[in-house]
Amino acid sequence: MSPEIEIRWGERSTQAILRRSTRRYLKIEVIPTGHVVVTAPEDAGAPEIAKRASRKGEWVFRELDKIAGRPSVTPVRRYVSGESHLFQGKQYRLALEPSNDPHVRLDGDRMILFARNPNDGSHCRRVLLGFYRLQARDVFPARLAAMLPPFERKGLERPHLVIRAMSKRWGSYTASGRIVLNLDLIRAAPDLLDYVICHELAHAFHGDHGFEWRDLLATIMPDWETRKALLERKLR
Ligand SMILES: [Zn+2]
Repeated sequence: MSPEIEIRWGERSTQAILRRSTRRYLKIEVIPTGHVVVTAPEDAGAPEIAKRASRKGEWVFRELDKIAGRPSVTPVRRYVSGESHLFQGKQYRLALEPSNDPHVRLDGDRMILFARNPNDGSHCRRVLLGFYRLQARDVFPARLAAMLPPFERKGLERPHLVIRAMSKRWGSYTASGRIVLNLDLIRAAPDLLDYVICHELAHAFHGDHGFEWRDLLATIMPDWETRKALLERKLR
């Protein structure tokens, strides 16, 4: 077994294969099989290599997510001031403030996160998730209502909406007539959320992504493919 070192970034970590070489600098590669290979100078100690490799953590996990083909709905975030976070398609710069009343306020292009302990990343994450959930409960039903009429004219009954954090998909439509939307879509612009809603509502009529499904979706939302591509790009 080849030696390994751990690369950490935020709450994520991965084991990387460690190789030695005569080169002087650290080299990190994410290979198409989804493995991470770190090539380090002969004399570098393992803790030092792990520390230096972890500085590239954001890039490493982004590459791993790309290979896994995941929508990457939980990108690595450290919840530090200055970091950018999305809300309804807009980039906000995070500002952390201590407070006994944890909440989030938007102010211009700033997202002010009031946290009991601004240095506690997982606490800050929970506060932000709470904000996203609160907003999603307003925004998602409103967008669903706006998207429904053409489907209702085809006989669809108003589906029950479920909002859920999901790591692998944007939404689903269940046989029992529920539309499930990924909470993370609150980070996307409303017209991209609309695409996911229409995508799922079209599944009420056609289960797969075959010709009939595409035809129905294109009739109701002619530019759905553009929106789909944008969504995959924006929320990466
Ligand atoms: Zn689908």
